[in-house]
Amino acid sequence: MTCLCGLAYLPSLGFEEACVHFDSTVRRVFKAGDSCERVDVILPGFVDLHVHMRGMEQRHKGEWRTESLAALHGGVTVVVDMPNNLPKIDSPSALERKLREADGESYVDFLLYTAYPFLPDDGYVAGIKLFPEDLRNDLNGIFSRASSLGKIVVVHAEDPLILDEADRPTGVEDHWRGHPELAEELAVRRVLWLAARHGSRVRIAHSTLPSTLRAVRDARIRGVDATSEVTPHHIMYGHEDSRSLGPLAKVNPPLRSRKIADELRGMVWAGMADFLATDHAPHSPEEKSMDYGAMPPGMPWLDVMAPLLMSSIGEGILPAEVIDMYSSRPAAHLGLRRGRIAPGCGADLVVLRKRPWVVSEDDLYTKAGSSPLIGRRLDWTVDRVYLRGELAFQDGPVVGEGFGSPASTSWTRATPAG
Ligand SMILES: [Zn+2]
Repeated sequence: MTCLCGLAYLPSLGFEEACVHFDSTVRRVFKAGDSCERVDVILPGFVDLHVHMRGMEQRHKGEWRTESLAALHGGVTVVVDMPNNLPKIDSPSALERKLREADGESYVDFLLYTAYPFLPDDGYVAGIKLFPEDLRNDLNGIFSRASSLGKIVVVHAEDPLILDEADRPTGVEDHWRGHPELAEELAVRRVLWLAARHGSRVRIAHSTLPSTLRAVRDARIRGVDATSEVTPHHIMYGHEDSRSLGPLAKVNPPLRSRKIADELRGMVWAGMADFLATDHAPHSPEEKSMDYGAMPPGMPWLDVMAPLLMSSIGEGILPAEVIDMYSSRPAAHLGLRRGRIAPGCGADLVVLRKRPWVVSEDDLYTKAGSSPLIGRRLDWTVDRVYLRGELAFQDGPVVGEGFGSPASTSWTRATPAG
């Protein structure tokens, strides 16, 4: 049994001085204890609903061993991985191959999404991801199947016809012109309508617009099981930041204006966004140095998450509730008893130390070798990370590759009485 005392982030209390007694699960949370080790801050392990670990035929971009170590380094203990691999995860054989790879290499626990139209009933499959191209199909069938299985339909909500008709940008600075806001608005309305019609759980990935968060909230008031993600980049940057971000500023959906990003962050303060998810998307440095048209979209985040969030809370940029948006809420969404420092929950704990550092490429485990925060000073350092009560990270991995396991969603549909 281990015992740590410090400023802990506790469910519904927020930051409180407390001691946490744990083995594989949290046993006790109490006010004071003489025999406990003192640390600065204890956070619940983060649960990232939206990452791209790569691997398979794209090991040059990222591998489960590198990206899951980046996750652990950032205080993320559970990830849910997207299916746009090479090959796509749209068949039992591709899914089986990915499961084997992830299970053999991952440092953190994980769940997987499958690609349209493949959606099996396995416990480690959280749901299906729909990309803009998939929205060209009649989606009644997949919404209905997801509803009957209790799986989540995660949507990259941009209408492909609007994207076809949009301007052709010529550089990273005007990448947003190729992705009109209307594309997101229309796709959001459509999938909320489909979810209402079929009683499916739907989640809007990487919401970029205040109207998206409002639409999800309004749908929920009408009884639809709808939720929303926001990413760190869409709430912190506008396309005006393209110059300083460089090639990383090419992301889909795009960075909107700073004004919209500020509004979106305001909605996070107002409790209007359900989840924070990084959309961690590594590419090789060679790929990101190609010219605008050829360069693939995406930016890596995982390595820096715990220090970024603690520093941002300290600076008043983000509310403390952003911790819930990245731990207890996504865990509950997946049906996992984790992401909370509370008795009976899995002991996934992140210990932070107040020690300022400036982010450099050398600090990162992601194969992308880059971060939007290069050169930025952060006030906090990850001291260690416990996963299911085991010390997994301290100045590097303490456990071996493959320590992570497939988690299992225990979410089940409420069966109507009688
Ligand atoms: Zn993504």
